[in-house]
Amino acid sequence: MTLGKNFRLPTDVKPKAYDADLRLDLAADRFEGELTVEVTLGAARRAITVHAVGLEVTAASADVGVGAQTGQRTVAANATSDEESETVTLGFADELPAGTAQVRIAYRGAFSPGLRGLYRAGSIAVTQFETADARRLFPCFDEPAFKAVWRLRVAGVPNQAIAISNGRVVRDDNDGRGGRRLTFAPTPPLSSYLIALCVGPLEASPIAVARDVPITTWTTPEKRQLTAFAQDIAGAVLPRLEDYFGLPYPFGKLDQIGVPDFEAGAMENAGAVTFREVALLADPTTAPLAVQKRVAEVITHELAHQWFGNLVTMAWWDDLWLNEAFATWMAYKIVDDWRPSWRIWMDFEAGKGAALALDALVSAHPIRADVLNAQEAGESFDAITYEKGGAVLRMLEGFLGADHFRDGIRLYMRRHREANATADDLWGALGEASGQPIIEMANAWIRKTGYPLVDVALSQQGDVGAGASVQLTQRRFFSDPGAAATAGDAANTKWLVPVVLRFKDGKGVKEQPVLLREPSARVALAAEGPVAWCIGNADARGFYRTGYDDATLGRLLPAVGELRPAERIALISDQWALVRADAAPIERFMDLVVSLRGEEDHVVLDEVVGRLALIEHRFLADEDRAAFGALVTELYGARAAGLGWKPGPAEDDEVRLRRAVLLRALVVTARDEKAVAEAAGRLPAAGGGAGDVDPNLLDVVVTAAARQADDARFEDLRARAKSETDPASKRRYLHALARAENGPLAARAVELALGDDVPMQDFSSYMSVLLGNRATREAAFALVRDRWAETRAKADSPMIIRRLVEGLAALPERRHYDDVRAFLAAHPIDGAKQAIAQTLERMQMDVALRDRILPRVGAWLRARKR
Ligand SMILES: [Zn+2]
Repeated sequence: MTLGKNFRLPTDVKPKAYDADLRLDLAADRFEGELTVEVTLGAARRAITVHAVGLEVTAASADVGVGAQTGQRTVAANATSDEESETVTLGFADELPAGTAQVRIAYRGAFSPGLRGLYRAGSIAVTQFETADARRLFPCFDEPAFKAVWRLRVAGVPNQAIAISNGRVVRDDNDGRGGRRLTFAPTPPLSSYLIALCVGPLEASPIAVARDVPITTWTTPEKRQLTAFAQDIAGAVLPRLEDYFGLPYPFGKLDQIGVPDFEAGAMENAGAVTFREVALLADPTTAPLAVQKRVAEVITHELAHQWFGNLVTMAWWDDLWLNEAFATWMAYKIVDDWRPSWRIWMDFEAGKGAALALDALVSAHPIRADVLNAQEAGESFDAITYEKGGAVLRMLEGFLGADHFRDGIRLYMRRHREANATADDLWGALGEASGQPIIEMANAWIRKTGYPLVDVALSQQGDVGAGASVQLTQRRFFSDPGAAATAGDAANTKWLVPVVLRFKDGKGVKEQPVLLREPSARVALAAEGPVAWCIGNADARGFYRTGYDDATLGRLLPAVGELRPAERIALISDQWALVRADAAPIERFMDLVVSLRGEEDHVVLDEVVGRLALIEHRFLADEDRAAFGALVTELYGARAAGLGWKPGPAEDDEVRLRRAVLLRALVVTARDEKAVAEAAGRLPAAGGGAGDVDPNLLDVVVTAAARQADDARFEDLRARAKSETDPASKRRYLHALARAENGPLAARAVELALGDDVPMQDFSSYMSVLLGNRATREAAFALVRDRWAETRAKADSPMIIRRLVEGLAALPERRHYDDVRAFLAAHPIDGAKQAIAQTLERMQMDVALRDRILPRVGAWLRARKR
């Protein structure tokens, strides 16, 4: 009998509590377990199926009639494994009656390869179970709807080691074999993917207490001095989350653990959150602001999950977005409340841009997609689930009002705590709290793929302003100019779009909300006097793109300084998207870039410079590089020189970050000789921590030095990548190796990818840098192609292999696209179906765009010079 890959456990057998005795053999990377699961049987059964992968069941039985005066008996069972469904079925010698049974399973297994199940990360043993890898350590009901209490005991813990799980340690005994046996407090009802165990030589920060919750940050010993910042953040945001949800933190204690090799950014295991080190450990006196913000955002995201995800859990993976969209949105909201000067919502715009790009593909997926099995669920961890989902929640919050929205969330929390819920449960609670029927609007946004382009055309009768109006038109936006013609019905999708217009009239600047229901509508503006300009997405809060007719855009461009920073970012991002879609000329985009040369806001500037870097990478002929570099130097050289390299004594973050963007433009994109030499010359001073280089400039300095590295410098960078304890610095030096440009070193950088210098967690990002480097990209692709088995072994994690596939899209030319397409067709990858389709679609579009605009960029540059 085979159950098949899409098999789901029947719902008439429910686990109530797991009682697990684990014995670890850390010398052999193996374990043994004895597990008792209390289950409730809805009907009499001869067989019970649980999930298990790679576990050898050595004995199984069930006790029935427990607690009865008579009739308690033990029923023996045989175990049969089924590889495809990742299950073990226990066939009982006798029928188990309906009611309660204690199922006992003795088993053994080995640590998992890759970064999931129970695995080895340097000196520590750690678990990573989401989406469906608890089954690699425990035979269990490994679907999120099966919540149960977990009681865990772990033997084989070395005397000097620390062991952390979801509950605090309540007993610490000798295990009779030279180690210790720790007993953890029972958990509240939890889904199996949220269980965690971590054992090894860890050291703790001093304990912080937020309200009455003890918080500890753990790391390998040499990084202990980097834990204080994470403690501060958790201590600051935990009470804010309690206040927002109106419910206390549900898991008693909070441990935050830095794991040396980790697949995702972090994992929200209840009360025992695991992190990639770079997302947890930082010294705020020496770390770039971007690193600090990222740490704060990730910690807050994982803490938000303790309520949204852990206390209330999606019923099935099709609602994964409920977890991730919410935690994404909440993290920005709470960090913004904690550190308003960071303007963290501006960082959200960058993530939203990635989601808008992804969601404009024909191969995109809806936020809430049908998910047949755990492997498909794993594919959903992308910008659509996180950032589009977060943006849709933000849009709904704006539509309902922040107080109504919060009341709805509180209602949802109270109603479903320690249980499971679906999207409709959330809409129901939000509707109830706000008195507004939002199901239709919300479901359209989460169930339909894509989003609209809203075209805005302003018209007014004369200049008296009477009768000023805008014509709004919506149509589904595709990046591919040809997609609408071939997408059939999908091209006709319409949304209920909560548009917010912002315009300037004779009295000032006003906002006007409009719910766009129809394909097209004329909206009278509540204007007094003539309307100077009108923007179609106030504060860029809506998840849609905005286009303007020539006259409306013509009014907007001279007033661009009056727009809010997020609106300027949206203008650049939308105009670029229209170029990609062949709906706007590249020349006009280049003119827009030039008109923003004086931009002061570093986030907006970053958006402009980012587009220039993309053009330099993909859409520029070699003979035009000098002219392009000269343009960038002309745009930013004088301002960068005015700021110099050294921050003034009273300088604020905004100026430091502006300097960093300007210098990145000059050094990395324009390759301005003088600026490059200045940057590279600062490498020796860049290592010491409180050195002479502003932390925000480290990326620029190290990149410049790495590109022109000789043997000695390459080995210096390599040694730094090995010895650095600060995770962000370590990663910076590691990636620097992949930026080498001189021939033999470029080859060496590629060769290092498969060796010990590059940990598995960094493999895909290291490869992405190689694939984006003109000096290394051919060899990097050849490595993937010619040493595929080794590459797969090095990317032994579904998420890492997907990121590797996505990294191939950095290859810019048509011949690359042909090679990648042929290669991926010949080498199918389980669990990367979407990533492959999206990567190929993106590459195909990018090479078509290259054919279209590369000559025109060159002509525009030459016309400018004349
Ligand atoms: Zn998350």
